Amino acid sequence: MAQAGNQELTDRFIQFYRNYYRDRIGTLAQNYPNEQRSLYVDYNDLYTFDPDLAEDYRSQPEQLQEYAEEALRLYDLPADVSLGQAHVRLTNIQEHIDIRGIRVHDNHVGTLVSVQGIVRKATDVRPKVTEAAFECQRCGTMTYIPQSDGSFQEPHECQGCERQGPFRVNFDQSEFVDSQKLRIQESPEGLRGGETPQSIDVNVEDDITGKVTAGDHVTVVGVLHIEQVKNGQEKSAIFDLYMDGVSIAIEDEEFEDMDITDEDKREIVELSNHDDIYGEMVKSIAPAIYGYEEEKLAMLLQLFSGVTKHLPDGSRIRGDLHMLLIGDPGTGKSQMISYIQNVAPRSVYTSGKGSSSAGLTAAAVRDDFGDGQQWSLEAGALVLADKGIAAVDELDKMRPEDRSAMHEALEQQKISVSKAGINATLKSRCSLLGAANPKYGRFDQYEPIGEQIDLEPALISRFDLIFTVTDQPDPDHDSRLAEHILKTNYAGELNTQRTQLPTSNFSAEEVDEVTEEVAPAIGKDLLRKYIAYSKRNCFPTMTDEAKGVIRDFYVDLRSRGLDEDAPVPVTARQLEALVRLAEASARVRLSDTVDVEDAERATEISRSCLEAIGVDPETGEFDADVVETGTSKTQRDRIKGIKEIIKEVDREYEEEPGAPIDAIVEHASEAGIDEDSVDKELDNLRRKGDVYSPATDQYKVV
Ligand code: ADP
Ligand code: MG
Repeated sequence: MAQAGNQELTDRFIQFYRNYYRDRIGTLAQNYPNEQRSLYVDYNDLYTFDPDLAEDYRSQPEQLQEYAEEALRLYDLPADVSLGQAHVRLTNIQEHIDIRGIRVHDNHVGTLVSVQGIVRKATDVRPKVTEAAFECQRCGTMTYIPQSDGSFQEPHECQGCERQGPFRVNFDQSEFVDSQKLRIQESPEGLRGGETPQSIDVNVEDDITGKVTAGDHVTVVGVLHIEQVKNGQEKSAIFDLYMDGVSIAIEDEEFEDMDITDEDKREIVELSNHDDIYGEMVKSIAPAIYGYEEEKLAMLLQLFSGVTKHLPDGSRIRGDLHMLLIGDPGTGKSQMISYIQNVAPRSVYTSGKGSSSAGLTAAAVRDDFGDGQQWSLEAGALVLADKGIAAVDELDKMRPEDRSAMHEALEQQKISVSKAGINATLKSRCSLLGAANPKYGRFDQYEPIGEQIDLEPALISRFDLIFTVTDQPDPDHDSRLAEHILKTNYAGELNTQRTQLPTSNFSAEEVDEVTEEVAPAIGKDLLRKYIAYSKRNCFPTMTDEAKGVIRDFYVDLRSRGLDEDAPVPVTARQLEALVRLAEASARVRLSDTVDVEDAERATEISRSCLEAIGVDPETGEFDADVVETGTSKTQRDRIKGIKEIIKEVDREYEEEPGAPIDAIVEHASEAGIDEDSVDKELDNLRRKGDVYSPATDQYKVV
């Protein structure tokens, strides 16, 4: 740095303020200190004013900030205000450094850097003492000790009587500042192929605390520091990186880190005109997994998603599609959903069991982030996947805390946390792609789905589509599957041998030929760009004909429920799902209108899902109640029946505390309900707390 004197540098800043920030400083002076305590300086302005000064500011931010703040105090203000404690905060440094790319030899340490990412964790805002006043208990003299970030510094002796105390900290005479610690994690769209995201911690103070919350996408300008890692009391040779935050900006829009060139655009538009674009795309989703055309088409539509609608009254209807694959083990579910990460521009892949304390939604946690006493708010997968896709494997194993937060997350697309003084609402505008196993390992096709998975019905009903994946031996299908897996593996073998073994007998052409057969029709880079392009540029609206198709489909399904005793077929939830699916289908073609073909594609998928899951297994009729409440109508009637029977038997056996089981079974069999069903319903009723057992083998309705 040019060795300019202090006075000279301070004068430069005053000159800069006069030229560029006269008005801003005026506003600051009016609002200081309650509403505003900082002057925000755009790096570009400073650079335009004096490139050397700007560069010095970046390389030695701490000293330069002092001069800049000193200049602010000396600046001639209109009224008799003083900006005694005002901060200068630099913003808008154009080059951002990658969190994972920070290396000591790049000489970033001690300099001003800018990073972008998502707030993974944020402590609550707490006062931090900057200067502690120690009152001598012997003579009453006050000794002031400045405090820095390390441990709490106490005076060696009293400044009055020179004895070693005892001292009492006088809080009124001490100075405090609000402080907060944030953990910024690389945003998911920057990550390729399942890399684990890295993060950096940022300390912020005073007026910039409490401004951001977990899940916010931010750009942070701050001073990079290193700090020695401590292992308990032992110091380690390894150092950690952290930042002292200077300014934080919340980014509303996705970072435009996906460059779509004109060349890409031409290719995308050309592709969109292919007759079989849907087929080509379906073949490009998890090509190593055989079959599942319908599931893959649905996943494709999920990637494109419907249009998020903003109504004139300010409310919003989600465009994101949620889907669930429930099925037998070893059927490729995990493989399929993890492939999504390769394609979705912003996605998170995780297991329901959760690897972080925040789990799938969000949590207030108390751990060693912060000072060990402090609560912090941590964002889970659905928040980190905001505006993207959250692929969650083993959804049935999710933690109980997540279950209740999940309803809100999926429908309102936000998550509220209220615990230990932390009250926050986090955004989770993502699509959920879940995979789950049936409760008893394998599927029993003759049981309602709600009974077979460990998710509560209210949650199940939030999914736009639910696919059931069964694994039943079928010689034809099995041999084609075997063929496919063998071919995929063979292509992999050839490719590996060619690259590992110089003496390989296979020619490059031979390898290419086999690889060609199993490669995706559309490469995943292009597919990523295609999807991003469509989501940015395509907001289709529904034609009257398409509306007609959806309406007819819906009315038709509903009409099957008009007969008084028939189960209600579908609810309005499915109707919105159909709209979303049809919109997504239009987006695949980059179409501005949702046409009949889109509506038909949507109704077809929806019908086949409903058929597979919504069918009341005992009557064969559609029954959305199975999906919505986990209990079919037949079953509900039966439950009602059993309850009535228990009451009846109970009245009959007045002298007993409850209704004896033998008598219940006997009555039930007269009503056409067999003993197995009775046992099962009794179990159900007891679990729900509708029935209890006052004595051995006796039951009573609550
Ligand atoms: P799940 O999550 O359903 O239990 P996985 O995704 O772990 O099953 O699949 C188990 C293995 O079987 C994987 O290696 C997968 O590639 C293979 N597999 C299962 N079904 C298929 C299929 N239809 N096509 C190709 N491979 C399959
Ligand atoms: Mg699995």
